[in-house]
Amino acid sequence: MLEFELIERYFRRPARRATLGVGDDCALLTLSPGMQLAVSCDMLVEGRHFLSTVDPFLLGHKALAVNLSDLAACGAKPLAFTLALALPRAEAKWLEPFARGLLGLADEHDCELIGGDTTQGPLNICITVFGEVPQGQALLRSGARAGDDLYVSGSVGDARLALEVFRGTVSVPASVFASARTRMEQPLPRVALGLALRGIANSAIDVSDGLLGDLGHILKQSGVGASVNTDVAAGLIAAKAQYAQVSTATDIELAPAQWLEWVLSGGDDYELLFTAPQSCRASVVAASEASQTPVTRIGSIEVERGLRLVDGKGRSVPNTYTSFDHFA
Ligand code: ADP
Ligand code: MG
Repeated sequence: MLEFELIERYFRRPARRATLGVGDDCALLTLSPGMQLAVSCDMLVEGRHFLSTVDPFLLGHKALAVNLSDLAACGAKPLAFTLALALPRAEAKWLEPFARGLLGLADEHDCELIGGDTTQGPLNICITVFGEVPQGQALLRSGARAGDDLYVSGSVGDARLALEVFRGTVSVPASVFASARTRMEQPLPRVALGLALRGIANSAIDVSDGLLGDLGHILKQSGVGASVNTDVAAGLIAAKAQYAQVSTATDIELAPAQWLEWVLSGGDDYELLFTAPQSCRASVVAASEASQTPVTRIGSIEVERGLRLVDGKGRSVPNTYTSFDHFA
């Protein structure tokens, strides 16, 4: 299969919202009046972000999901994306499921593939997403204020558990692994929640490198501190309750500190971490319901800089948790 045949067959579809899509030198997007363009780019590299054995359908899904998650964290509505793809071989048995996973999620979010670049080389997927947000309404990392409540959506730490099972450092019953693996391979970008939080949240970020590390970005850019309730956080990993239900006497009991570590420093969760004024508690609940996305209040933003971990009784818990860093 030749380069243009490949693009034509798998990635070119009739333009819908875009003024001009795949096929010319540039794509053209027209923004609605009063809207700002939100742009984000994420790259997935074989051996770094995924294993060579991963199902191409899931890879297509995840490559776009991690990008949509950035739009969600800004409260932006997805519009379109570009795909820069390096792949070793032009094989239908890889391209067909990859395109299906990618474009399936794109259709769910009405986000159109408008261009890209295709080259031969080690497998590497780079997507740039474009979204729109009303002028001045984007949710930023820099907006947290002392007194804000701190929330996180969904469940956190499950993707890390799946990774540890793959690495062979831990073993869990098959059903627990299966759901954790889905969390790792098919993250759900919280786009609806991000949109619902416009005008409510003061700040937001998506959890990609680990909850505490990503919280650190909010704290630094907002010039504030926070305390996080570790007893509440410990319940955020969905696998923990499942494990309690299905594990048998022959399964090794996992220490509470182990679950908490996966929650606080796991990564690859693609949940939204956000802050909102205490006066907005009812609005946060309404946004959670409207977007059908569970949220949990895990702490609060404080004037005193730095991060404090406290248990349910208010006792201080030592912070030994580190986040993912590509060059660490
Ligand atoms: P150029 O030579 O101008 O870079 P290309 O020959 O690389 O253009 O691409 C031709 C058209 O196909 C362009 O519209 C480009 O955006 C699109 N395209 C190339 N690769 C992809 C891809 N992987 N997905 C979607 N569109 C693509
Ligand atoms: Mg090109």
